[in-house]
Amino acid sequence: MTPDSPPPASPATCPICGQPAHPETRPFCSRRCAELDLHRWLGGVYRIESDEPADLPARDEE
Ligand SMILES: [Zn+2]
Repeated sequence: MTPDSPPPASPATCPICGQPAHPETRPFCSRRCAELDLHRWLGGVYRIESDEPADLPARDEE
């Protein structure tokens, strides 16, 4: 099945800095912004529930 309608021409801009996205690093304008976004993910802005035991008392309130 091949969609015969082209993808919508949305203005691809870097979600980090708002500059036009680069084809090689879409949707980011550069590798730096791509890595910045990745670090935001890994940095705990978005918390991914992993194999961390939930029944341990959380002592990370500093
Ligand atoms: Zn950028």
